Amino acid sequence: MIDSHCHLAGEEFVEDLPAVVARAQAAGLSRALVIIAAEDRAERSRAAVVSAAWSEVRFSIGVHPHQAGQFDTDPSEAARTTRAAIAAEPSARAVGEIGLDYHYDFSPRDVQRAVFREQLQLARELKLPVVIHTREAEDDTFEILRQERADEIGGVFHCFTGDREMATRALDVGFHVSLAGIVTFPRAIELKEVARLVPIDRLLVETDSPFLAPVPHRGKRNEPAHVVRVAEVVAELRGTSIDEIGEATSKNFARLFVP
Ligand SMILES: [Zn+2]
Ligand SMILES: [Zn+2]
Repeated sequence: MIDSHCHLAGEEFVEDLPAVVARAQAAGLSRALVIIAAEDRAERSRAAVVSAAWSEVRFSIGVHPHQAGQFDTDPSEAARTTRAAIAAEPSARAVGEIGLDYHYDFSPRDVQRAVFREQLQLARELKLPVVIHTREAEDDTFEILRQERADEIGGVFHCFTGDREMATRALDVGFHVSLAGIVTFPRAIELKEVARLVPIDRLLVETDSPFLAPVPHRGKRNEPAHVVRVAEVVAELRGTSIDEIGEATSKNFARLFVP
């Protein structure tokens, strides 16, 4: 099993990282993709601590739409920051999370779009996949992906919460769909439909730790070990075994982010 999206270098894990990693490994996890905020010096330096605690982790580094506003005078500076952080991290394998968040609107939308675009161009140049965060910005996300020929870049829609139509759009540009703990929530009817329809070779599972703990851990700090619960629910929905979900998602992960 692999957690394809977590923030293990976040300050929430500073105090007990070795225990968190030990629980992940005891739960059967072989790897995780750890997201690093490119502009966050402290988080970048903690990446080395995470690597030392768990050498199999891989990193995805980028400027999140929430932080895009820091680059309002020069959006290309966001891509330069991401480029430098990736160059300094030997286990970096992806650009992200990047994208658009019109739910919180922490950054002006035009700046979010420019910063997203700059980082897609960087990913193309570096030949790395992208990890996309998109919330209430579906049409603009797909329009930018089309303009930037993202089908040639590839990657994943992380913490997917869209409907079946949006899942189809993501699959049509060749992207993977990653399901998080939200799929375990009883009222996530539409998302459970998505969990059934995504082809097995395009599926990933994640925790987005420390956020979004699945049922029955809801409301507490989330951690990578809980990805097993996500996989269990996805397996139930698809009428298959958790082993098959673990094997398929690990294979998909390897294709995207390993070695
Ligand atoms: Zn996100
Ligand atoms: Zn995240």
